[in-house]
Amino acid sequence: NVSLAHIDPAIQAVLDDELDRERSYLEMIASENFAPISVLESAGSVLTNKYAEGYPGRRYYAGCGPVDVAEELAIERAKALFGAEYANVQPHSGATANAAVLSAIAQPGDTILGLRLDHGGHLTHGMPLNFSGKLYNVVTYGLDRNSSLIEMDQVRDLALAHRPKVIIAGWSAYPRYLDFTAFREIADEVGALLWVDMAHFAGLVAAGLHPNPVPVADIVSSTSHKTLGGPRGGFILSRDDTYAKSLNRNVFPGQQGGPLMHIIAAKATAFLLAGTEPFADRQRRTLEGARIVADRLLAPDARASGIDVLTGGTDVHLILADLRSSEIDGITAERVLHEVGITANRNSIPFDPRPPLVTSGVRLGTPALATRGFETLDFIETADIVAHALQPKPDIPTLRTRTKALAEKYPLYPGLPR
Ligand code: PLP
Repeated sequence: NVSLAHIDPAIQAVLDDELDRERSYLEMIASENFAPISVLESAGSVLTNKYAEGYPGRRYYAGCGPVDVAEELAIERAKALFGAEYANVQPHSGATANAAVLSAIAQPGDTILGLRLDHGGHLTHGMPLNFSGKLYNVVTYGLDRNSSLIEMDQVRDLALAHRPKVIIAGWSAYPRYLDFTAFREIADEVGALLWVDMAHFAGLVAAGLHPNPVPVADIVSSTSHKTLGGPRGGFILSRDDTYAKSLNRNVFPGQQGGPLMHIIAAKATAFLLAGTEPFADRQRRTLEGARIVADRLLAPDARASGIDVLTGGTDVHLILADLRSSEIDGITAERVLHEVGITANRNSIPFDPRPPLVTSGVRLGTPALATRGFETLDFIETADIVAHALQPKPDIPTLRTRTKALAEKYPLYPGLPR
């Protein structure tokens, strides 16, 4: 018997516990999703065995025929999906994709301009402990104190003052569209390159529900596992081949050795699925769900208890509940939501008066619920549960019963044995 359950029951138990957890909780971490079985099949396949350093047709190992097909399919599908002329599907993660992008277009010591981490930016956009903060001279723009929006005047002023080599447009926690055209104009004015990190909203772009940065930016990076709902990984796109050589070199050998061929094959399937009508429908439900949650948290009873919604709503798959005026802080909200059966994460709010480990915000996302099958009425019920959970004395057992009912209505991975 060579099964995992037999060889390593401790790890089999982890797999079983995680499947139980995913099935019985409502997943509202905005960066998470449920990869389809077809994607899990490649991700857990024999392709994990293959070394394939290099690129299709130009490998440093023999025996790459089958995996070349997978990588070529992933590249062609990514290009077609996003209207790009260049794609690199090898980055192991969003962070490695970003490291390759920066090393391809900037030299250590160059100035980069990105969104502040505590205003919704990502670690790889210049956080001091990250490679980006260590290697580059980082200047950041932030959200406006009143509107909680990225104000392009501020971005322009900073760009004119600091003359960055690269301007980064992208976020991990921001509920509105970015004005890619305005970013482009500023980049052109100061002679900077424009890099868009669409890790979070790539699925919306694929479905035509969010402006596509590919025609406007010099380079676009992404993850494949957030709204896109594929395997955990990263990829890089460009509207033309200007940076192709440099990007390829900076992924391999610049950042990585052997590519994860099992994950690249799974990416190919994810890109295929992302071009279908069921995927577009799922992204529409994702957006509708986020708007329903935002509206519910802006209802009079929620507002009376000090809850607000950053920017007054959302254009995308997430909302940021602003608890600055609530007696419930971010860490308490995260705990109570978990007790009622909802997984979400606390998040700093711009100009947060509470410390970073406590915070005054919660980030709530709807991609995983939409993947699970949630429709309008399910999102209305979910939003009402969230609104009640964030009240000072929530009825936790009743709310847990309600989340269980929703979870049971949409069995997750019904074909997978426990
Ligand atoms: N870029 C953005 C905007 C992200 O939000 C994330 C992940 O949270 C990443 C990059 C990094 O992706 P990964 O976690 O796969 O390294």
